[in-house]
Amino acid sequence: MPADRLRSDAGTYALLLRADDAQTIGVGALGELAVQPGRYVYVGSAFGPGGVQARVHRHARGDGALHWHVDYLRAVATLMRAWWTHDDTRRECAWAAALRHRPGATVPLEGFGASDCSCRSHLIRLGDGTKWTAIQDALRAEAPIHSASAEAWPP
Ligand SMILES: [Zn+2]
Repeated sequence: MPADRLRSDAGTYALLLRADDAQTIGVGALGELAVQPGRYVYVGSAFGPGGVQARVHRHARGDGALHWHVDYLRAVATLMRAWWTHDDTRRECAWAAALRHRPGATVPLEGFGASDCSCRSHLIRLGDGTKWTAIQDALRAEAPIHSASAEAWPP
């Protein structure tokens, strides 16, 4: 089954971000995020106009207003990859939970990206040495039917 290309349909996505510098940034009304050098994964969903494609392209450009929590982090980090699945089920909370449970994973700021749910955070800092393939496997385990419909960014 070929990888599903990025479309304007609804779905869930994950962003792999890399920060190179230690710094503290404000995240709107949420508070301050102490950014440490390393890799972060943010999980979100896109059920509005333009779907996942519009959202991922927006994050890839890194421009636009600081609207979502992740915009503040994106402004000081590099987008390494995006991963997505097109379906009508909101998988962001399950994906975030799977990521939080990875060995070495930490939650850098409580409530990040989780204003509308009861998750601790939709932003996870990966343990050093965590392989991206391990992250993919963890997410696939939460959405096995979509295991073949995701791809890396850039494709
Ligand atoms: Zn959640």
